[in-house]
Amino acid sequence: MAKDTVRVTFLGGLGEIGRNCCAIEQDGRIVVVDAGLMFPEPTMYGVDLILPDFRWLIERRDRVDAIVLTHGHEDHTGALRYLVKDINVPIYGSALTLGFARHRLTEAKVAKDLTFIEVSDGEKRKIGPFDVEFIPVTHSVPSAMALAFRTNAGIVVHSGDFKLDLTPIDGRRTDISRLAALGDEGVALLLADSTNAEEPGFTASERSVGGALRRLFLERPERRMVVACFASHIHRVQQIINVALEQHRKIVLMGRSMEANVKLARKLNLLHVDAADLIDIENIDRYAPGEVCVICTGSQGEPLAALSKLSRGDARFLKVGADDTVILSSHPIPGNEWTVGRVIDDLHRAAAEVIHSGHEPVHASGHARQGELRTFHQLLRPRNFVPVHGEYRHMVHHAELAHSMGLSPKHVLICEDGDQIEVNKTGIKRAGQVPAGFHYIDGSAGDLDERPLEERRMLAEFGVLQISAGVDKDHAKIIQPVRLTARGWFEGEQDRTVLDAVTNEVRAALEVALREGAPDEDALNKIAQRAAGRLLGQKYRRQPILLAAVVVL
Ligand SMILES: [Zn+2]
Ligand SMILES: [Zn+2]
Repeated sequence: MAKDTVRVTFLGGLGEIGRNCCAIEQDGRIVVVDAGLMFPEPTMYGVDLILPDFRWLIERRDRVDAIVLTHGHEDHTGALRYLVKDINVPIYGSALTLGFARHRLTEAKVAKDLTFIEVSDGEKRKIGPFDVEFIPVTHSVPSAMALAFRTNAGIVVHSGDFKLDLTPIDGRRTDISRLAALGDEGVALLLADSTNAEEPGFTASERSVGGALRRLFLERPERRMVVACFASHIHRVQQIINVALEQHRKIVLMGRSMEANVKLARKLNLLHVDAADLIDIENIDRYAPGEVCVICTGSQGEPLAALSKLSRGDARFLKVGADDTVILSSHPIPGNEWTVGRVIDDLHRAAAEVIHSGHEPVHASGHARQGELRTFHQLLRPRNFVPVHGEYRHMVHHAELAHSMGLSPKHVLICEDGDQIEVNKTGIKRAGQVPAGFHYIDGSAGDLDERPLEERRMLAEFGVLQISAGVDKDHAKIIQPVRLTARGWFEGEQDRTVLDAVTNEVRAALEVALREGAPDEDALNKIAQRAAGRLLGQKYRRQPILLAAVVVL
């Protein structure tokens, strides 16, 4: 790689929302930006988490100088606990980001020998071969940062996740003047959040949610208010608390991460509530419904979180019912619509009133829409641009937006996970590809690759079929009849017909094989499987998992 060049390797987050991770490299040294996880789709049976494939990084671990975190969301920090087992380098981030990350790393028992380096807004640090500047941005978690790397090729700006909220709850606005100054100096490469690049206009300020909540609370002075939101969304929690306190309600926190995050945010002076206004869930019955407000986890329908337990009547100390209004102060992440829908149904079944973002403005996104993205591009006026953090269509729309802001197509690259790019004074080019597939984590079984997952999908769709038989090789005869045992099949007429046909097909194939010679058990099993598989696939379009146990007696 030439001296005047900086290389970026995208390990995750380009083509999906989740598992964000990239590596910025110069003079043979590497700085990693974020190490996030992704939650599985419903058809990824038994998969708990999806990580970036870290092999490329691990092979170069001696050249990695640091991990820099843009903010405290799991899709940016959740894979750290796996990465740090192989790569123990200093981890940089804001106090809150590091606090969240450290909490998770401690839970996973890998925090002990790690070095955390706290940075504040606007701070500049020498990290590896780069001077890195930490620029405050607004997002749905406090203390989020954009990053500016000074490289041999010029300034590289990574937006992190951001929106341009001009009335943020903590008054900490995106540092627009600093971004403009970087733009004046000249930005060689911009990597920017594409999540809402399909959406025209501007994302509503977080503050607007407070107004909606206030109105809903005022209309319901006698009811118990239960509000679910992300536990990391400290500003949302603050607004719920403020509205509840205006009505002299006591606050009850439900959910482990809600309690832990509120504790940390209060310690860091990022969340303000008097201890006297917080009560333990055990004591909730001492208060009339109109005297309390519950703030809980589970707004994504997570089955083990507080809101799901409440919806099923499984929570200790609190049963929701006709006196309760439950507000889902959130928007389902794609893939979670079904589980969220079920929770909402169960809450209705329990006779609670349910309010969600589908019919009241009780949520605002943390990501910039087109209007803000245009502003961001205009401030930075990059020479080259790669959209990041988005599904493919989001990145395409973001690329088009960059074109419309005056960047010529040859200076905009749409990349996907595993792509490498190089930037120098003259422009941007693709520089290769590295392995960057999904790395599945199954909580009970450890790591998974694609194969068992594919089998689980087939099991789910087609069930399993066990073929058994006993043969006498010497007399070339089947002496224990071919029997099929099915799991995940219907018991009706149609499936019985299929099973009979398969039994006949396998019997015929085995008889032919026995007549033609004396194949061993392995061969007979393969013949039985092949015969069954062929008939099922060709005639009935079914692909059950086939197990054969043909024994030579
Ligand atoms: Zn985020
Ligand atoms: Zn994100």
